[in-house]
Amino acid sequence: MPMSEPQVLSEPVKDLWGRPLRSLRVSVTDRCNLRCQYCMPEEEYVWLPRETLLTFKEIVFLTDLFSEQGVDRVRITGGEPLLRKDLASLIGMLQKNTRIQDIAMTTNGVLLAEHAQNLFDAGLHRITVSLDTLKAERFKALTRRDTLAQVFEGIESVGRVGFHGLKLDTVAMKGYNDDELIPLIEYGKRVNGEVRFIEYMDVGGANDWSADKVFSRKEILVMLSRYYGAIEPVHEISSAPAQRFRLPDGTTFGIIPSTTTPFCSTCDRSRLTADGMWYLCLYAKTGLDLRKPIRARRSREDLVSMIQSVWETRRDRGAEERKELEFSTGRGRFIDIDRLRQDPHLEMHARGG
Ligand code: SAM
Ligand code: SF4
Ligand code: SF4
Repeated sequence: MPMSEPQVLSEPVKDLWGRPLRSLRVSVTDRCNLRCQYCMPEEEYVWLPRETLLTFKEIVFLTDLFSEQGVDRVRITGGEPLLRKDLASLIGMLQKNTRIQDIAMTTNGVLLAEHAQNLFDAGLHRITVSLDTLKAERFKALTRRDTLAQVFEGIESVGRVGFHGLKLDTVAMKGYNDDELIPLIEYGKRVNGEVRFIEYMDVGGANDWSADKVFSRKEILVMLSRYYGAIEPVHEISSAPAQRFRLPDGTTFGIIPSTTTPFCSTCDRSRLTADGMWYLCLYAKTGLDLRKPIRARRSREDLVSMIQSVWETRRDRGAEERKELEFSTGRGRFIDIDRLRQDPHLEMHARGG
């Protein structure tokens, strides 16, 4: 791998709309041990060839380059990140980079109980567990696997080993789990986790998406305030996707309203797939291949200037563009199933949520 002195920027590189490059989501595998209907509804998938997956050394090398361009937050994701062998050692390597202030991970929780201690010891800062239901039968129907008990064990292990700031992410869907928002908030209180409701998105392989299944931010707030009483917004300056709210008893929760109220104007996130493709938006159909140039031993300066020039010309605002279609042609299907089969990078499980 090319080595030379790092170029240190005082300011993060900015895109065409002035949005800084700050947050990098690193997918460490495209494989998953669940088959959530909203993410992986198909029976068969085309996987990224194993020899194309970035090694930990390559991930750390790229993350270092990104951090020199402004990235100070890294989120490990997938597929299911805990399927990647020895993930804790990657965390240990990443946390040596002092420019990175926050290393988080999003997981479905199934394998979390057995790895939580190692991840904590290695220096992982925060964990988000995806949890859409508290009911075993519903979990089985939604994910096509019978592992909710393991997810609960995983969630309970988070606080026990010493993590703070647990988040529980729930994709809120009409007809699936819209009757569980209150039980989920109550469960969050018990395990010391802040629940965040994500609006169902028509991204990647979400081929069963339809507007009538989206449980919107507005509907969520109406439902919760009927039960809890007045809900007030938490005022904070943040580029985080979740808008946070406070219940009368002080409990906070978040809503990520990507579908009805997209927040592209402040988006500082980009995504690196497990095989080194860099995508500037969840909805981007093309990305920059960073694996080939690092394996071809291109110089560090070349790679830095590639990253910089690509971000400087970024104009992506995928969720807003999808929303605008509602006023013209209608949203339709985002990506045709044949195209998804030809290019697995377009799938949500390949580029991380
Ligand atoms: N497997 C891990 C997990 O489920 O936490 C990490 C990867 S998963 C792709 C990351 C997040 O994307 C999860 O919280 C998941 O609920 C969310 N997600 C996947 N498909 C989605 C969709 N169509 N709409 C909204 N969120 C989605
Ligand atoms: Fe579900 Fe995450 Fe796996 Fe997608 S990647 S199927 S959201 S567990
Ligand atoms: Fe960022 Fe794209 Fe999501 Fe908009 S749709 S918030 S630009 S990742």
